This record gives sequence, structure tokens and C-alpha cells, in this order.
Amino acid sequence: MSRLSDILVVGGGAIGGAIAWSLIKRGLTVTLVEAGRIGRGASWAAAGVLAPDWSGHDPEALTVMAEAGLAAWPDWVAELEDRTGLGLSFRRDGLLNVWVDPDAPHLPHDLATEPLPAAAGQRLSAAEARALEPALTGPILGGALAPADAQVDNPRLAPALIRAAADQGLRVLVDTPVTALLGSGGVCRGVRTASGTEIAAGAVVLAAGAWSGPLAASSGIHLPVIPWRGQMLAFDTPARPFRHIVFCGELVLIPRPHGPLLVGTTLENVGFDSRVTLAGLHQILARAERIVPGLGDLPLARTWAGLRPGTPDNLPYLGPIPGWDGLYVAAGHGRKGIILAPITGELMARVILDHDLDPMLEPCLPQRVVD
Ligand SMILES: Cc1cc2nc3c(=O)[nH]c(=O)nc-3n(C[C@H](O)[C@H](O)[C@H](O)COP(=O)(O)OP(=O)(O)OC[C@H]3O[C@@H](n4cnc5c(N)ncnc54)[C@H](O)[C@@H]3O)c2cc1C
Repeated sequence: MSRLSDILVVGGGAIGGAIAWSLIKRGLTVTLVEAGRIGRGASWAAAGVLAPDWSGHDPEALTVMAEAGLAAWPDWVAELEDRTGLGLSFRRDGLLNVWVDPDAPHLPHDLATEPLPAAAGQRLSAAEARALEPALTGPILGGALAPADAQVDNPRLAPALIRAAADQGLRVLVDTPVTALLGSGGVCRGVRTASGTEIAAGAVVLAAGAWSGPLAASSGIHLPVIPWRGQMLAFDTPARPFRHIVFCGELVLIPRPHGPLLVGTTLENVGFDSRVTLAGLHQILARAERIVPGLGDLPLARTWAGLRPGTPDNLPYLGPIPGWDGLYVAAGHGRKGIILAPITGELMARVILDHDLDPMLEPCLPQRVVD
């Protein structure tokens, strides 16, 4: 088993890609190993909303990190686009969060009925919210506008990151599932793949999204990751029906700049089943129709689903795995992995290279769950 690289990253999603690019830019040799195709997991399925806390209920440590993530996005994406020539359509459209009248008839579950905390943005009356988005003809009671929130064409993100890193020397292995982490004497020496090949590296970063839990478990490491299924659908629209991203509880409407209107989403704990169901689509449509009556008459463009990597305390696992020298994890970003990609890449590179533990990482250290 010869040592190929300083660092081996497991997982070719936005998180693995962001870490690989950060490490390559700092002059390390890096290999990235992906079970299937690059960027076809949650990073592809996501809605692409860059909003630090649209629910008002995230743990504070997550919101702080997501704010740092959003602040990093403009320069990070500009450099990525420059290096790859790929457009990622980063846009600060702003996010309008609305809530509905709890006494309105036929309210589906999971629409927001309570005003959001003041931190969610500038408070608007129902009339002001409708003046911004006239299509919201349902029983809206008020809204909050966060003008700096943004969106990005997320399916292009992981491929762009890995292309940028590959241009600077990243070695990429696709269709290569990692089946075990190799360790002896408390030191991680590399990984074994499904074909039985052993790949050695100076250190390993586990960034396999929702699959990080089972992979860690196969090496005796307790790292609970919950695959939260999210379903989405897209309508073809003749013109952009909204100027802003619109949220109402679990409902999200994202007007892509030149394309469909994305509508989501569900939050389901159904294991590793990433199929679309009629029940899921019905749930999404019922919510959307209640605040935008008639939306369901638009032509359906497509449907899809993905698995968010959730954790029991809604904070990602970021940092060294205790008891294993040279093994790191960056997984469990839940509903925030796209906004958190740049800051995750930066903070993980600093930990791996300089052992520099940013205070933002402390609540996210995996030692809170790993024995
Ligand atoms: C419907 C939906 C909407 C979302 N909306 C947003 C949003 O608007 N904003 C936001 O910030 N976030 C959003 N998210 C969350 C975001 O998509 C995730 O947090 C993020 O993509 C996680 O990135 P990742 O790289 O950790 O995981 P993934 O993108 O899933 O990548 C993990 C990769 O690891 C690979 N892998 C798995 N097992 C192995 C193995 N054994 N060996 C090698 N490779 C392996 C997989 O094939 C996959 O490519 C959404 C998610 C969903 C599903």
C-alpha cells in the first residue's frame, strides 16, 4: 500500500469538494474518492438557498457559522467561476418569509402561523408583503424580508469545486465506494474501497454526507447521521412569478433566474430511500396552493428528492475524530450544507493543516458524540 496523497477526502459533494479545493490551494496533495458520480447527492438535490436562518429556530452556533458562510460566498464563488468558467448564478434576490392566519380554513400542516423572530428580517404587514409579491393571494398575515439572502445554482457547485481543484492537481476517483477506514494503533492510514483496494494517505476526511454515519460505524465509530429526505418539484413558468425567494414554514418557492420555479420541500425520516412519492408531492403542492392559489395549474417540469445529512442536535460534525490520529469528519450539515460549504472548506483546512481550532468549530467537534 503506497501513500498517494497527504490527504484523502471521502465524498464528492459540496462539502468534500470545498475541503479538497481549500487544501489544494494550500499546496497539499489530495485525493478525493467518490462512491458514484461527482455531486449527485444532497448537494445536487438542494434548493440552493443561502439564508443563515429562515426558520428562526436553528441553534445559535449554526446561525453564526451560516452567517460567516454567506459572507464568504461572493468572493468564493467569483474565484470558482473565474477558475472553471462555470456560471453558478449566485444572486442576492432576498428572502421573504411570510406567515398565514392560523384561523384560515383548510390550512395544511407546516405552514408558518406565527410571526418570525425580529432577527429574521425587516417586518412587513400583509399588504407590504403582497406589494412585493402580488402572487401571494392566500391568507398572509405578515412577513419578514431578509434582503441579503441569496440563491445559487447548486447542482453545478460540487462539479465546479472538483474541476477547480483537479486543475490544481486533485486526484479524483469516481465510482469507488469506500467500505472501511484503515487504522492501527489509533492512527488512520487510509481507506479500503469496495474492490478491496487499499489507498493510503497521511490523513482522511470523512465527508460522505448522509452516508458518513454508516461508514464511520463500519470502523466502530459512533457518529449518528440521520438521512432526512427532502422532496422538491419544479414548474415551468412563462415569466418569473416571484422576485424574492419565498418561505412559509416548510414551504419554499425559489424563482430561478431564467428557469423554473422550484417548490419544496418535505422533511422525512425514511432511511436511505431517496425516491419521490406522490404523498410527498401532494403535501408540497397543498401548502403552495394555499398561499399561491392556482400554482398547481402550471406545467410540471420535474420532481426529485435527496437526503440531507442531519444530526441529533442540528449541528454538523466538524474536526478531528477522537481516538484516531489523522481522521477528520465534515458531515451532518443538515439543511445548510450549501451555505456552509465555503466556511467548512476554510475551517477544515485550518484544522488539518495548522491544528487551528476556530471558536466557531468548538460546538461542532465530533467528540460530543464519539466515545
Ligand atoms: C431537498 C433539499 C433541499 C436543500 N436545500 C438547501 C438549501 O436551500 N440551502 C442549503 O444550504 N442546503 C440545503 N440542503 C442541504 C444540503 O444539500 C446538504 O447539507 C449538503 O448538500 C451536504 O453536502 P455533502 O457534501 O455533505 O453531502 P452530499 O452532497 O450528499 O455528498 C456526499 C457524497 O458522498 C458520497 N459517498 C457516500 N458514501 C460514500 C462512500 N462510502 N465512499 C465514497 N463516497 C461516498 C455520495 O455519493 C455523495 O456524492 C438541502 C438538501 C435537500 C435534500
